[in-house]
Amino acid sequence: MRIVVLAGGIGGARFLRGLKRAVPDADVTVIGNTGDDIHLHGLKVCPDLDTVMYTLGGGINEEQGWGRADETFHVKEELAAYGVGPDWFTLGDRDFATHIVRTQMIGAGYPLSAVTEALCDRWKPGVRLIPMTDDRVETHVVVELDGERRAVHFQEYWVRLRASVPARAVVPIGAEQAKPAPGVLEAVAEADVILFPPSNPVVSIGTILAVPGIREAVAGAGAPVVGLSPIVGDAPVRGMADKVLAAIGVEATAAAVAEHYGPELLDGWLVDTVDAAAVERVEAAGIRCRAVPLMMTDVEAAAAMAREALALAEEVRGA
Ligand code: GDP
Ligand code: CA
Repeated sequence: MRIVVLAGGIGGARFLRGLKRAVPDADVTVIGNTGDDIHLHGLKVCPDLDTVMYTLGGGINEEQGWGRADETFHVKEELAAYGVGPDWFTLGDRDFATHIVRTQMIGAGYPLSAVTEALCDRWKPGVRLIPMTDDRVETHVVVELDGERRAVHFQEYWVRLRASVPARAVVPIGAEQAKPAPGVLEAVAEADVILFPPSNPVVSIGTILAVPGIREAVAGAGAPVVGLSPIVGDAPVRGMADKVLAAIGVEATAAAVAEHYGPELLDGWLVDTVDAAAVERVEAAGIRCRAVPLMMTDVEAAAAMAREALALAEEVRGA
């Protein structure tokens, strides 16, 4: 079975670990979000690609959900001693090595997709991880700051400002000119099932879909497309997804997120059992919907979610 998953960071990575457990022999291609990428200290950092790679490769800091396990912070301390920031974005020593290798390879002329493949040679995530594009796309958030409208890098909004200032718009800068990375459209076209994990619908999956050609390919794919709600009980399970949903005028409910994707993209949608009342509204929008437990408390819980998503895909296919 060929499965394509459009993934952000933590939500995507934890779901993927469950999917691997549920169907160990499936051929899984992950299309990763690169809108969160940021240049720091002259290095290219790809937080979402690395979260997927470290989580599936066994190198993730489990409690945090991002960054390396057994991490130290000597480089960060030394940079701070020189007065070199930013102090709000944490990179550990082990993590630094990944960004050095990536930046070196990009400097030597390799596209990000080839670099990602090379990094995955070490981590062996058990999936094919492809960035959504080799081109530079940077998500910016238009915020109200000190009475003024300003666009800030997504990481500045998310990490430095903790999404605490009003967001008026989310703009994937560069997306319009970007091309899907090699293999992305082919994987979507050849997929037996396409899954949207419980990733952020705006700044993770929304950004991937903003690369011209990807939304059209998913909408036109022969394979059923099934998504899992990142919103449980009218709130994001973790993080601040409600803030960026508000910025694009979508309420933070499992049903509203399904309607936002719409029946053009989604054939099926899973909501948590606490949101069972939303099933009717989602089905009225033309999307088949089921209520099942959606809390990824451990790998087995995530695997159960993956089985439910694949079962719903089969049901949709048979319909
Ligand atoms: P990020 O790039 O690290 O922010 O990660 P993603 O975009 O992949 O996923 C973030 C989303 O995952 C958030 O909106 C959370 O609501 C959602 N999420 C995290 N843990 C869970 C969980 O256990 N269950 C569900 N349903 N959603 C989750
Ligand atoms: Ca992210």
